[in-house]
Amino acid sequence: MDRFFDLVTESARSAGPNAKTTPDQSTGLIKLNANESVYGPSPKALAAMREALTDSHLYPDNDSPALRQKLAQRHGILPEQVVAGNGTTALLGVIARTLLQSGLNAVTSACSFISYPAVTQTACARLVEVPLIDHGYNLEGILNLIDTNTRIVFVANPNNPTGSFLDAVAIDRFLERVPKHVIVVLDEAYSDYAQYFAGKRDVEYTHSLGYVRANRNVLVLRTFSKAHGLAGARVGYAIGPAELIAYIAQLQEVFALSTIAQAAALAAIDDEEHVQQALEKNAAQSEWMEQKLKTLGHDILPTWTNFIAIEIGEDSREFARRLRKRGVLVRPLSAWGAPTSIRVTLGTPEQNQFFLEALTSERQCLRK
Ligand SMILES: *Cc1c(COP(=O)(O)O)cnc(C)c1O
Repeated sequence: MDRFFDLVTESARSAGPNAKTTPDQSTGLIKLNANESVYGPSPKALAAMREALTDSHLYPDNDSPALRQKLAQRHGILPEQVVAGNGTTALLGVIARTLLQSGLNAVTSACSFISYPAVTQTACARLVEVPLIDHGYNLEGILNLIDTNTRIVFVANPNNPTGSFLDAVAIDRFLERVPKHVIVVLDEAYSDYAQYFAGKRDVEYTHSLGYVRANRNVLVLRTFSKAHGLAGARVGYAIGPAELIAYIAQLQEVFALSTIAQAAALAAIDDEEHVQQALEKNAAQSEWMEQKLKTLGHDILPTWTNFIAIEIGEDSREFARRLRKRGVLVRPLSAWGAPTSIRVTLGTPEQNQFFLEALTSERQCLRK
C-alpha cells in the first residue's frame, strides 16, 4: 500500500473515500437512494441521444457552444456567463481548484451535499462546516465563520440531504453581508422542484438569475440530473460573472461533455412538458407520502424536492440494510453526521407504497 505514497501529490493523498460513492448493486431492487427521477428522461432527449450516436466517431464540440447559447437564452444571460460540465459534481471540483488551495478555506453547512468536503479536500483547502439550525443552513453562523482566507461559501438550496429550504429574501440578506473576497456557490440542483413548490405555496424561491445578471460574486449551479431525468448522461452547468466563468472553463478538461450528453441536454431543455409532468407527479406523491409519514408519527420537513429525510430513531445503516432485504434502497445519513436518519427519494405510487409498507413492518419489528 505504501509503494506510491511518496510519489503522488498532496492532493491525491488528501482525496478521501468520500470523493466517490460506490455504485449500488441494485438489480431488482426499488432504487430510492440517489434522488434520480423515477419518470426517466424525455423521449425527445432519448431520440437526440440515439441520433448523436451516428457521429460518435467525431470529437464533440469543445465548450458545448450550442448548449451554452441555449441556456443563456433561456436564462436571459450571455453565453460567456455559462460553463457546462460533466455533471455539477465535476464543476464543483473545477470551481474548487479555481478558487481554493492550501491555506484557504470554504465554508458550508454540516449535513449538506456530499461533494463539498471531497472537492475542498482535493484542492488541498479546509472545509469549515457550520452546525445545522432547524435542520437547515445557519446563514448567520456561516457569516460569523468567514475569514480572510475564505474564498467559497457553498449553499445547497434546497439542501440535500436534509431537504431544508431558504427563500429568496433570506439569500438576498445573506449576500449583502458576504465580504467581496468570497464567492457564494448557490447549488440549485433541485431548482425545478423548488420553483414548482414555491409557486404552489406563494413563496419566492430564488433571485439567483438576477444576481448573475447583476454580475454579483455568485456562481449558480444547475443540473439535468434531477427533474430532467438525465443523471446518467452527466450534464450540469454553472452561471456567473463572465471573467470567473472563463477561469473555470480554462481549468476544465477538454471535451468535458460528450456529443451524446450535449445532445441530450439540448433536447431536454425543449421538452418542458416532460419536466412539468415529472414535477406534478412528484408533488402528488410528496403530498401522499408526507401525510402517511405524519400519520406514522414522523416529524418531517415539508419537501421542496423529490426526496424526504426521515428521523427513524435507530441506527440508520442497519435500518437501511433491513429495508434492502425487503427490496428497497434508501440512503442512511450516517456519513452526514445524522446516524438515525434516512433519506428516501420519492418514487412512483407503487414504489412509495412498497417503501411505506417496508418501513411500517420494520417499525413494528422494532417495537416487538
Ligand atoms: C444531485 C445533486 C447535484 C447534482 O449532481 P450532478 O453531478 O449534476 O449529477 C448537485 N448538488 C446537489 C445538492 C445534489 O443533490
